[in-house]
Amino acid sequence: MEKIKMQTPLVEMDGDEMTRVIWKMLKEILITPYVELNSEYYDLGLESRNDTDDKITVDSANAAKKYGVAVKCATITPNAQRMSEFKLKQMYKSPNATIRAILDGTVFRAPIIVNGITPLIPGWKKPITIARHAYGDVYKNAEHKMPKGSKAELLLTDKDGNQTKTLIHDFSGSAGIVQGQHNLDSSIESFARSCFNFGLDTKQSVWFSTKDTISKQYDHHFKDIFEAIFEKEYKAQFNSAGIEYFYTLIDDAVARVIRSDGGYIWACKNYDGDVMSDMVATAFGSLGMMSSVLVSPDGVYEYEAAHGTVTRHYYKHLKGEETSTNSVATIFAWSGALKKRGELDKNEALVKFAENLEKATIKTIEDGVMTGDLFTISNLNNKRKVNTEEFLKEVGSRLMNG
Ligand code: NAP
Ligand code: MG
Repeated sequence: MEKIKMQTPLVEMDGDEMTRVIWKMLKEILITPYVELNSEYYDLGLESRNDTDDKITVDSANAAKKYGVAVKCATITPNAQRMSEFKLKQMYKSPNATIRAILDGTVFRAPIIVNGITPLIPGWKKPITIARHAYGDVYKNAEHKMPKGSKAELLLTDKDGNQTKTLIHDFSGSAGIVQGQHNLDSSIESFARSCFNFGLDTKQSVWFSTKDTISKQYDHHFKDIFEAIFEKEYKAQFNSAGIEYFYTLIDDAVARVIRSDGGYIWACKNYDGDVMSDMVATAFGSLGMMSSVLVSPDGVYEYEAAHGTVTRHYYKHLKGEETSTNSVATIFAWSGALKKRGELDKNEALVKFAENLEKATIKTIEDGVMTGDLFTISNLNNKRKVNTEEFLKEVGSRLMNG
């Protein structure tokens, strides 16, 4: 069989621990037998980041900018314990944060749905994709404890040095706390465009929610920016694609999401997205079934699994014990990236291959062959638990015969 050729490289970002083990097996079993893989490889494993003072991460993000499509393996975000474990020169930032800052992107997380795994909300039939605005608000705040008798004011200084002061609270009656937050029009605009582009890309409506009734300046500004960009740049395209933009108050959004059957993108402010994405992931089943894609406002796509490096399984693997780690989200990161690469290059064979890879993966689980995490929640009768490598081989045999 002739292998599928790729005109333009895909940026490949390797990672750490169990997902690094899966990465290598996945390529050998599911990709390179079928595709003449044209990738520009960046090793974002922690040793390599340390050897290059993290320059490798920046280089990989710039390569993603250049080629437009990347696929990333999960990586360790160092903490104090990892500093000594890996004898790191510094406590590097999370690679995802570094890449996101360079691409100015929005992360979209969506569950992979299969028969036999019923969401905890049984009405959810289609994926709910959460888009989290990953800049500002409480994540870049200034906060203070306020002793009794103190006073907090908001002091603004304009470019000419003129000042205005607003009282936040007079703490004469009780001690307390105070917090300052900000966001940027440029960041909210990028976020809005990424969401609308991704809606068009995936033919899904976009919902957006804030607390604009209470926060009449701050949250209302998010609402105004989304509306202005939609009206001016996207309305006509949404109409012809048969999708809609829907704004509602966050409380109403939460109620509607629970009652819905899914199939839309829910754009969330930073904190809402942080919290709601964990709720949605849990309700859909397993972290191993959550895919994630970073989309920049100018159309760069970086695909990955939403989960981490699955450290606990890796230590079992190192001891020579058998693991049953779910590779589905990582397979979908690869299929997503190959499909996008194929679409951009008008490479139909590559698009078709990526679609077949996804079908073979879903068919494997629906045939009852699954890893331990799914085995415990699947309601199929004929289910069988397999190890990490067996699962990939089972997908491989269906890909070959499908
Ligand atoms: P994790 O790797 O997502 O794993 C947490 C637990 O979730 C696992 O121990 C496992 O539960 C279950 N799990 C997650 N993915 C699974 C899969 N594919 N198959 C089966 N079970 C799965 O989170 P963590 O242990 O908190 O973090 C480990 C490392 O990953 C950290 O160094 C962190 O910095 C990094 N991280 C990276 C990213 C990223 O690169 N995007 C994201 C998050 C975390 P059981 O142990 O019960 O089986
Ligand atoms: Mg969270």
